[in-house]
Amino acid sequence: MSNSTLNSLLKEYEKKKSKAEFNFENAKREFYDSHKDLSDLNAMLNSVALDISKAILHNDFDLVTSLKEKFENLKIEKNKLLENLSIPIEAREPLYECPICRDTGYVTLDNNASTLCNCIKQKMFDIDFNKSNIGNLEKENFDNFDLSLYSDNTDVNKYNAKVSPKQNILNIKDIAIGFIENFNNPNEKNLLFTGNTGLGKTFLSNCIAKEVLSSKKTVLYQTSPIMLDSIIDYRFGKSDLKEVYDNIINVDLLIIDDLGAETLNSLKLTELFNVINARLLYQNNDKIKKTIISTNLNMNNLFETYGERIFSRLASYYNICRFFGDDIRIKKISK
Ligand SMILES: [Zn+2]
Repeated sequence: MSNSTLNSLLKEYEKKKSKAEFNFENAKREFYDSHKDLSDLNAMLNSVALDISKAILHNDFDLVTSLKEKFENLKIEKNKLLENLSIPIEAREPLYECPICRDTGYVTLDNNASTLCNCIKQKMFDIDFNKSNIGNLEKENFDNFDLSLYSDNTDVNKYNAKVSPKQNILNIKDIAIGFIENFNNPNEKNLLFTGNTGLGKTFLSNCIAKEVLSSKKTVLYQTSPIMLDSIIDYRFGKSDLKEVYDNIINVDLLIIDDLGAETLNSLKLTELFNVINARLLYQNNDKIKKTIISTNLNMNNLFETYGERIFSRLASYYNICRFFGDDIRIKKISK
């Protein structure tokens, strides 16, 4: 995650924030200008407040008490007046794009430390990693799920399954919807998409990403080769990749695409195990971290390639969705 991305985003945020506050001040002024009784009351409140501070300076506490009473009464009068007026929404409070961080990009934690808000983190992910991969969410979402691309024919020999590709994809779609709906449930399993290319694995991952993003969670998409290379580079001293590593472990939804396309060695195997395991351990600590892994390898290949440690975690904590059918990209072209 690059600093220059963060800096340019923060500049953008500053502009956004000033604009929201500027618009609010304007709308508020307009509203008061058009309600003379209200602006009169405001002027009176200001003047009484000034009198109170003067009386305090002169140690005239009897006067302070009576002025405070006057102030409170004016406030009640003002509130009554406000109750009967409908204040336009833009004059009530600044309309920030992100109400959580009020367009500052930062939120304060319980221990008073500040951290980047999810909204800006997601923007950084999108700029640095996701753009070329899950940038097509307008098109790839559940509304555009085209079932006609999946055959209705059940063919045990061809597909090695008792259901048709269409029934199978409907089952997988249900699992995906359950995954989204139960995202915050620590017992809801992660997803493993296995099957040949061109059967909709990436499409479905994108559908899920879109839904998860709309619930204000962070989504990071990585292909397995790039993810493992970045982690190895980080381990060998490229400290600017620390944040990339932290995000791989901490993002709400991690999508690891194309597992099996990497050139594997024992270091990468260890790191892959660490990523999968660390995210599962978080899950046990009630921090909801979900992972979707997509692979062209079948279960046998996965076991042979990654060994028992990784395989047993996939088998236990992932819903295995096997995609089968005819390459839908070929079908689309021939249509
Ligand atoms: Zn925010």
